[in-house]
Amino acid sequence: MISFEESETLKKLQAVVREVAIQRMRPISRYFDEHEGEIPWDYVAFMHEAMKTMGAASLVPQVEGNKVQPPNYVMLAHTIETLSWGDAGIYLCTPRGGLGAAAVEANGTAEQRDKFLGRLSGDKPVFTAMAITEAQAGSENSAIQCRAVFDAQSQEWVLNGEKIFVTAGHKALVDTPGFVVVWATIDPEAGRAGIRSFVIEAGTRGIQVTRQDKKLGIRASDTVTLTLQECRVPANHLLGEVKLAGKASPKGFKGAMQTFNVTRPLVAASALGIARAALDEMTRLLTESGVEIRVGMPRQKMSYVEGEVIDMQRTLRAAWLLTLKAAWLSDEGQPNALEAAMCKLMAGEVVTRVTQKAVEILGPVGYSRTYLLEKWLRDAKINDIYEGTGQINRLVAARLLLGYRGSELR
Ligand SMILES: Cc1cc2nc3c(=O)[nH]c(=O)nc-3n(C[C@H](O)[C@H](O)[C@H](O)COP(=O)(O)OP(=O)(O)OC[C@H]3O[C@@H](n4cnc5c(N)ncnc54)[C@H](O)[C@@H]3O)c2cc1C
Repeated sequence: MISFEESETLKKLQAVVREVAIQRMRPISRYFDEHEGEIPWDYVAFMHEAMKTMGAASLVPQVEGNKVQPPNYVMLAHTIETLSWGDAGIYLCTPRGGLGAAAVEANGTAEQRDKFLGRLSGDKPVFTAMAITEAQAGSENSAIQCRAVFDAQSQEWVLNGEKIFVTAGHKALVDTPGFVVVWATIDPEAGRAGIRSFVIEAGTRGIQVTRQDKKLGIRASDTVTLTLQECRVPANHLLGEVKLAGKASPKGFKGAMQTFNVTRPLVAASALGIARAALDEMTRLLTESGVEIRVGMPRQKMSYVEGEVIDMQRTLRAAWLLTLKAAWLSDEGQPNALEAAMCKLMAGEVVTRVTQKAVEILGPVGYSRTYLLEKWLRDAKINDIYEGTGQINRLVAARLLLGYRGSELR
């Protein structure tokens, strides 16, 4: 049974994470927004150490002996929400986790999870990334053209292609001894059935960061293009059951979707952290300027601003409860594709609206760089784009609710 009661462990953890957000993130928010491409190494080093104790609260994959246990996703959602309340771009510079780790968690065999996730808790901070998107394959990611060919002589997979918009790709491949999970096709004619995922570690020849993007928001987080040219990885870097002949594996494209079922609620949590930051700051600035926000009044007696604030709170709370449910289903090992798509869609919309309203209500104060509201408005939009845009998550949810296959409702 899902419980909305926050455990003592969670409350203690949240108090610590809130302090991290206040002391370690907010003071450097503006600097890293204005110095895109620089990495907040002090934060990275601090979190690497802090995660050792937070790990005890199951925030990151746990290494027990040589076995790796998955994190607790409800706790992780709470933590990501609060870190993103601090700063969503800097949160994406938190070591140890990342999309690559989530992909290994969702698709790897027990040996692969132990091998690749086990190293996240080493002496040095490690980043991971996941590369699906290509110039012609974003929303339609079954159109992937990055090619993987098995070389029977060397028993290696050889990858060629280009991946764009890879979050933390520079950190994972250049700055730390991390890895990127690259999705490629072993048979371009086979569509979805040909798609597989491969772990490419930092230092592997044939993979290069060839471009760093400049962005509207989350500027502390690096986003890169990766070029793969005759990039060779051992046979056992293909995630899931290894079929050396390159025939169908049990996971294939489904693995990408399973990764999204885990990560969409976490993106939703990040979105809602930004929304809460904007709501808190707007309320503080309004109160400071003598505007009282009264609750519990009949609608006709409320001011316009009160009505808007209550509406912002209502949608934020609804999206958060749905997010918790999606994360809880992950923890329970139950199907959550519908909840994951719905919470991500809803959170993307809520954060976009709440941050925009906050700037609108405060007018020039909201628009000014004196405060972080205008930054949060810019940070918000990505949550409605990556891990499936709002339109795509709406489609996914509609298919699941109405019982259509992908080919029937597009
Ligand atoms: C900052 C940033 C970080 C990212 N990080 C990663 C990462 O780490 N790894 C990774 O693999 N990718 C990453 N991405 C890529 C991201 O997931 C894609 O940009 C996203 O999935 C959309 O794909 P696209 O850009 O090709 O847009 P398109 O698919 O070309 O879509 C363009 C527009 O058309 C709409 N659209 C498309 N198809 C439909 C449809 N059937 N019905 C209705 N509307 C539709 C979309 O919703 C969108 O509004 C990142 C992107 C950004 C901007």
